[in-house]
Amino acid sequence: MRFIIFALVCIGFVLTEEPFHYDGYKVYQIIPKTVDEAYYLRSLNEAPEFDFWAQPRALNATVTVMVSPGTQASFENDLLAKNMDFSVIIDDVESTVQDENFRQSRTRSVARGSVSFTYFMRYDEIVSYLYTIAEAYPNIVQLLVIGQSYEGRDIVGVRISGGSGTNRPEILVDAGIHAREWIAPPVALYIINQLVENTANGYLSQDVDWVIIPSLNPDGYEFTHTNTRLWRKTRTPNTSCYGVDPNRNFDYHWMLTGASDNQCSEIYAGPTPFSEKETQALKDYLSANEDRIKLYLTFHSYGNYLLYPWGYTSALPDNNDELYALGVKVNNAIRAVSGTNYIIGTSTNVLYAAAGGSDDYVKGVNGVDLAYCIELPGGGNTGFNPAATSIWPIVQETWEGVKAYHDYIKEKYV
Ligand SMILES: [Zn+2]
Repeated sequence: MRFIIFALVCIGFVLTEEPFHYDGYKVYQIIPKTVDEAYYLRSLNEAPEFDFWAQPRALNATVTVMVSPGTQASFENDLLAKNMDFSVIIDDVESTVQDENFRQSRTRSVARGSVSFTYFMRYDEIVSYLYTIAEAYPNIVQLLVIGQSYEGRDIVGVRISGGSGTNRPEILVDAGIHAREWIAPPVALYIINQLVENTANGYLSQDVDWVIIPSLNPDGYEFTHTNTRLWRKTRTPNTSCYGVDPNRNFDYHWMLTGASDNQCSEIYAGPTPFSEKETQALKDYLSANEDRIKLYLTFHSYGNYLLYPWGYTSALPDNNDELYALGVKVNNAIRAVSGTNYIIGTSTNVLYAAAGGSDDYVKGVNGVDLAYCIELPGGGNTGFNPAATSIWPIVQETWEGVKAYHDYIKEKYV
């Protein structure tokens, strides 16, 4: 017992589990007008004092960054010296987060085992829905547990297959690798819901298999609900700070650019590639199924970008024309619903390069030609918290894009 208390005191001394408060943190918006300005903003990316909510990806596109209180004065001085326009869009992040927690706690209501698109479901509710539909639709839904998180949660997905044959093309979808990007899991859940529970959509799994993992970083996701709303990383303890950015942890040009070796950075790439159980789980799934997977979609937020490899270099992939043209089809389908428009491209026409992302790995190592990182629309006062009433319109318009992806895969591979 004495040992346990001693151990807890030691751990507590190094790493605190208290909810983090964002008192005095400000959020700035800057629109870089030159490459130099964009590169200046990019140069701040690895420092723990800066947390980029919207990266400098294109000229004249808005960059959003949260800055710790002690760094704000020098940051503002730099911006003024460089003649860069900026505005403070959140004066005190803590009050914004408190406000959101309040709203979220009031809008929760779902029967166990069912799905809701009117509030952000907790991880156990998501898993319970997956178990329920696998039981209710055993002919088309198979439950998959691809691994466990650091804290021991099952990482759960479903395979949806409405036809027969062993050589069927597969579309692999994941969401929630970044914990705070709350709109991503509902988009994955809506795809599952529509494929399985809407009989009019049966044709979509007739010739193509879908594997959908709605919450790839469950520890981080739960932590955003219980402790720190803006948590992004996994929850693995390191010596000075918790967590690794799982989307910098994949072993393809790992740590080359746009990633940090500082444990406290939001883009900490980890001590080694695949140091995280969550990324390892996906890696294992990928290597066992790489021959079947024809399309990989990973949902993030926010910023309205349809990004495809490469992330580690500005060189274009061999099939750039195909990736771009398919992106245009998908964007057209989404835009037809409500006018939402995505910017399509790689790091060549977007200025921010980052190595170690899952989409680069899937294309570069598993040899999947078509891989997209989809930055969904933002919302709410942080961008990461669309109002619960915005879940419906976002999942519905995105679903139209997902159907366009399916049509292409069916036409090309079936
Ligand atoms: Zn993300």
